[in-house]
Amino acid sequence: MTRSRGLNPRRGLRGSVVDRFWRQVDTSGGTDACWPWLGAVSGPGYGVLADDGGRVVGAHRVALQIKLGRPLAPRMCACHDCPGGDDRGCVNPRHLFEGTRGDNNRDAVAKRRALVAA
Ligand SMILES: [Zn+2]
Repeated sequence: MTRSRGLNPRRGLRGSVVDRFWRQVDTSGGTDACWPWLGAVSGPGYGVLADDGGRVVGAHRVALQIKLGRPLAPRMCACHDCPGGDDRGCVNPRHLFEGTRGDNNRDAVAKRRALVAA
């Protein structure tokens, strides 16, 4: 028995989508830096990859699922909260949180206001 073979040591999702994810992330900036996505990018600037079923999924959503250890709840978004300003290409799980589309929009509006006020 080779029980550990094929198991991903990282928590949460297992399987080839996780392997493909980590192969396309630049983590060289360190744990707190934004981690640029090196793979394919969609029109709006989000990283994308194919999941194990062949569907195209957002790389930042995969990052958040790895962090949560479960799929995102239905209709929930993977929202960015990057310390240096939100970066759609960032897939550092530490910079992502699960929120509704409304949360995400309110968050973006609040940040724009903060920028204008600064
Ligand atoms: Zn970031």
